[in-house]
Amino acid sequence: MPNQSLPDLSTQTASSLFSLCVAPGRVLRGQKALSQAGEAIARLGHRPLIVGGDRTLAVTLPQLQAVLEQLSFATASYSPDCSEASLGSLRQAATDSQADLIIGIGGGKALDTAKLLAHQCGLPVVTIPTSAATCAAWTALSNVYSDTGAFLYDVSLDRCPDLLVLDYDLIQTAPQRTLVAGIGDALAKWYEASVSSGHSEQSLLIAAVQQARVLRDILFQKSAAALLEPGSEVWRDVVDATILLAGVIGGLGGAQCRTVAAHAVHNGLTHIPAAHGAIHGEKVAYGILAQLRLEEMVQGNQLAATARQQLLKFYAEIGLPQTLEDLGLGDITLAQLRQAAEIACAANSDIHRLPFKVVPDELMAAMVSTTIGHLSIANG
Ligand SMILES: [Zn+2]
Repeated sequence: MPNQSLPDLSTQTASSLFSLCVAPGRVLRGQKALSQAGEAIARLGHRPLIVGGDRTLAVTLPQLQAVLEQLSFATASYSPDCSEASLGSLRQAATDSQADLIIGIGGGKALDTAKLLAHQCGLPVVTIPTSAATCAAWTALSNVYSDTGAFLYDVSLDRCPDLLVLDYDLIQTAPQRTLVAGIGDALAKWYEASVSSGHSEQSLLIAAVQQARVLRDILFQKSAAALLEPGSEVWRDVVDATILLAGVIGGLGGAQCRTVAAHAVHNGLTHIPAAHGAIHGEKVAYGILAQLRLEEMVQGNQLAATARQQLLKFYAEIGLPQTLEDLGLGDITLAQLRQAAEIACAANSDIHRLPFKVVPDELMAAMVSTTIGHLSIANG
């Protein structure tokens, strides 16, 4: 799919101009896709700076050998995190190596770093995901964290990556847990988009929300089978769903179809050091339960209660976390829980896209009761 610059229809004023980043310039997808991506990469630049984690670079550079032979490349680590300090030293590395292209290899944070670096340097970017844990390889958005991994803010980029290389063999080397987390992150598209944009009359938002429902249904139907048979056709379908289809929804929906409480809960949890053992999609999956619990407690929403019970069954089946304990946070203090809830409820947080007001006390109550049987607790 080509890059598209359509007017963002989210505004009421027909004369305002908004940009929409729907999709990467090109997606190359297949087994051993990486070894065949040389020509497409060389079309974008000849002096790439390759950004990844130290471990990822050590494992993947040999596989990129055929691609890199023709190019003069430099490598740089994004550690400690996708942070302002890392970006500062990477900009210097890009200047020092006279880079004309950024290549990101790794998980969500490596790719977010590479995309934001390219954006800041005005260079094209290639994303090569090494796991199916997020749709970061697709989207025109980067999350910025502190050096110690606390979420700070996100940045909208001026376009999606110029090239996304989805190599199934590479993805298959990632721990199974990363795909499970990716399923959690992709599921959130429906639970968040239907809240933020479910009542919209705008064509592209209607399309985005409907795609999010389709994505959820694909994941419900295929995830368990996919996890049993890594590398199989059904496994590739689920990988496509978490990396590509989840990205399509973010692209179609644009700024109006953003996250709600599930990601706000994630963002709050990243400020608790003990939560760093859980990966992004795991915290988001738990955040979906907290969001539904809020809708149930504050609004008396019985559909949310039913949806939460349905998700709890699904989470148990595929191994997504249902509680703070499951996230490794069984021993956090009340003060830490309050801190996470207060960050999640900060004035600029996406949690306020919920159709009702939320205060930290309510969120804390929701966060400790994600598995409760709804019949005995139902509001009113
Ligand atoms: Zn996410």
